Amino acid sequence: MSTTSRFSEETRAVILARAGYCCELCGRSSRIWSGWSVHHRRPARMGGDRRPETRGAANGVLLCGSGVDGCHGWIESHPAEARGKGLILRRDEIPAEVVVELKRGAVLLDDRGGFELAA
Ligand SMILES: [Zn+2]
Repeated sequence: MSTTSRFSEETRAVILARAGYCCELCGRSSRIWSGWSVHHRRPARMGGDRRPETRGAANGVLLCGSGVDGCHGWIESHPAEARGKGLILRRDEIPAEVVVELKRGAVLLDDRGGFELAA
């Protein structure tokens, strides 16, 4: 399954810059690992959910690994825990409105590449 095709190149660049080119869960630098990926918190499934709130930077988290290894693999193999951390969202949840627990803390991401620490 391709998980990166739905973000525009511009949005992917914004996510990478926000992440400082490091995995947003474990902090590993993307310069020392290959196979990084942008995880969709609200995934595109069953023919594609193309609503605008899923295309912004708030819906993407830069992770090491792919769907089977690294932090991306952890999310795929621990969906309940990932959901509890805001890393996997339901279809009716707006990414910019759901706190996500990253290495930098519990934050609300916005669609332009910014974030604020959640109270
Ligand atoms: Zn990682």
